[in-house]
Amino acid sequence: MANQVTTIRGGLAISPTAEASTIGNLDIRFSDDGWITEVGADLPAQEGETVIDARAMLVIPGLVDSHRHPWQSLMRCVSTDQTVVEYRSLARGRLAARYRPEDVYHAVLLADLEALNGGVTTISDLAHIMNSPQHADAAIQAHVDSGLRVLFCHGEPNDLEVDSWYHNSSRRHPDDVRRLRDTVLHDDTARVTLGMKVRPPFLVTPEVLRYDFELARELGLHVAMDGGLGGGCWTGARWGDNGLRPIDDINDIGQLGPHLTLVHCNNLTDSDFKLIAGTGTHVSISPDHEMLCGHGLPATIRMRHQNLQPALSTDSLVAVTGDMFAAMRTLLTATRGGISDLAYRSHEAVWSWDITSEDVFRSATLLSAAACGLGDKVGSLEPGKRADIVLLKADPLNLTLLNNPLATVVTSAHPGNVDTVVINGTVVKSGGELVFPRVDSVIEAAERSRAHIFEGTDLATIHKPHVDEWAMFA
Ligand SMILES: [Zn+2]
Repeated sequence: MANQVTTIRGGLAISPTAEASTIGNLDIRFSDDGWITEVGADLPAQEGETVIDARAMLVIPGLVDSHRHPWQSLMRCVSTDQTVVEYRSLARGRLAARYRPEDVYHAVLLADLEALNGGVTTISDLAHIMNSPQHADAAIQAHVDSGLRVLFCHGEPNDLEVDSWYHNSSRRHPDDVRRLRDTVLHDDTARVTLGMKVRPPFLVTPEVLRYDFELARELGLHVAMDGGLGGGCWTGARWGDNGLRPIDDINDIGQLGPHLTLVHCNNLTDSDFKLIAGTGTHVSISPDHEMLCGHGLPATIRMRHQNLQPALSTDSLVAVTGDMFAAMRTLLTATRGGISDLAYRSHEAVWSWDITSEDVFRSATLLSAAACGLGDKVGSLEPGKRADIVLLKADPLNLTLLNNPLATVVTSAHPGNVDTVVINGTVVKSGGELVFPRVDSVIEAAERSRAHIFEGTDLATIHKPHVDEWAMFA
């Protein structure tokens, strides 16, 4: 029997390419097994097609968050006014060790539904809560149940109070990733696929770094890693000044390349970015998290000197929003602010911007898809890609008139404007409502898990870090 098709008709479609975005009144047709099959103006009707009426709608590819930690949703905003050192002490130290597998499930499901609701159709889950195989299974099950597309980057445990595992530089990556590769996440064409979150050179011995990368390569996995955490949140020292040269360390073992996504990177040097650019390594910037939590300004300006464009991400609900529209806005404004600040200091004028709303839209779609190892599958509205599509109402007061549709999406849209979300050809949000059948019970389960996590913790006294733990970075 021929595949059934659905056609999104009458919308104003915005789709990025490597060069310029396509903007126009285009219909988009996808098959019920989840592929975009046709894109064009006024597609002829096909017998039996289902029609999604997109008149007065903007149609964009699903947004892609190339670095987030959904297990942390239970701790939403407890670290907003903390430094990264304080966050590590509380969230990654004291509270993470209390997570049971069922708490991971409830947290991840809640975070995934928040993502879907906000027009995010793919995330890279940097899952550093792998306290047991059951914790991994719970996170994966939540991703399967939510309907979100996920690169599940299996990470380190958070099983000891004060986050000792993270500091233990001689512990190799947990072997459980082999079990996942052999069983539940063996299929790289599935909606939920396996990657690895590997600890960076400044936290592990050279032997462990080599072992972890070789394990990822043996299993054929995309790798995510902290590239360079900002000065303000650690010691104030730039890489190189403190004897740490993480990008050189990775390059020395031949592991820079398109299979690797480095997150943050605020503290990398110009020569680091040169190496990154020359090897096709991805960089994911989390502008809200980086500026709020003390990493410093995003590295966008120095990256652009090397012709490097970043992928985009939100990082952690512990401190900031998971809203990717907000992340686009922040990346644009922070970069422009940095450019003009540099110009003022040099008594120069800025005559043109070398970062635009279109660049930022590309970061949130195509470039983030590539940073999840999914550049050939999602991130644009093209035949042959998976049908991950978002419809935004175009007529609310905060968007209407559309003089510049792309800039309007980047500067002014928010999750409340998301009308319809399609992932893998399945409608997961329609008419502004999630299709998921029991959102209330997801929230209630998350509340119960939160009570367990916080039991015995006085939120009023949590801001005291275990400063001694950080002596290794001095
Ligand atoms: Zn992170």
